[in-house]
Amino acid sequence: MRKPFDGDFKLTQAFNDACCRASYAKFNLKGHNGLDYGLPNGTKVVAPHEGKVIEATLDPKGYGLYLKIENAVEGSLLAHLREFKVGVGDTVSEGQLVGLSNNSGNSTGPHLHWGYYRFPRDRSNGFNGYIDQIPFINATVPDQTLAQCRVELETVKKQVQDEITKKNETYQELQEVKSDLEGKNSQILSYENFQKQLAITLNVEPDQAKILGAIVKSNEMEDQLRQSQKKVEELQQSIATCNSEYDLLKEKLEESINKNKADSDLLQRAIDKNKEWEGLYKKLEKAYEDLKEDQKYDYKHLGFGLYYRKKL
Ligand SMILES: [Zn+2]
Repeated sequence: MRKPFDGDFKLTQAFNDACCRASYAKFNLKGHNGLDYGLPNGTKVVAPHEGKVIEATLDPKGYGLYLKIENAVEGSLLAHLREFKVGVGDTVSEGQLVGLSNNSGNSTGPHLHWGYYRFPRDRSNGFNGYIDQIPFINATVPDQTLAQCRVELETVKKQVQDEITKKNETYQELQEVKSDLEGKNSQILSYENFQKQLAITLNVEPDQAKILGAIVKSNEMEDQLRQSQKKVEELQQSIATCNSEYDLLKEKLEESINKNKADSDLLQRAIDKNKEWEGLYKKLEKAYEDLKEDQKYDYKHLGFGLYYRKKL
């Protein structure tokens, strides 16, 4: 880092200079929060270090026309200028022309006010985070350190981005839970409204309406129970009908079995009779055959019960 100008100009007011602490109370500062150099109007002002121009504006009652240059390590404010040579968003290198000096804003004479801060910046230090940069002037920050800082900054940025993404996901999940709860809540509200309406209709207290609401619900359940019981009874009825039909059929079956038995006895008797008759028939047939045989002979009575038989 270097001074923000070429050549040698007098330091007119140091950081927290004992001369003028009281005059900064109105800015809520313990004292002077930068270095003032006695630059004549129109002197070239250069970037004390590399960085990005993050502000370039007019503060008529304070810094006048001022700009801010910042990098990952440090930042500078250059105030009371006449004009800018760079704009917001520009990247400047150390020693690059950025503006011309003047005495714009809260200034008693031509000078350059140079505020300086480093990260991490402690804004509660009584100087809004600005520090005395004398020990840092001409102390160079190695490029490697800056590059390292940038890499670390990128890593932190990515971590923060990831964290944001994660938080967003959690937020989405919470939104879903919320809308689910809202749905449930609206159901509860509609039930409560129903109870209120009931209270108005019946002209009763809300507590009574709650009881009535519960009774209505319980009645609905009782109806369901009654319907279930009715179904059970119907089923029992149909079982009883089936049972009596079964008994009737059983009785008829037994009757028919008994009748069958009687018929079968009768049949057996008829069969026996038939057998008996068959025997008689055979005997008759034999007798008839014998008779036919006898007729082939002529019998002569010889007395004493003897017969003479002669074939005809
Ligand atoms: Zn100053």
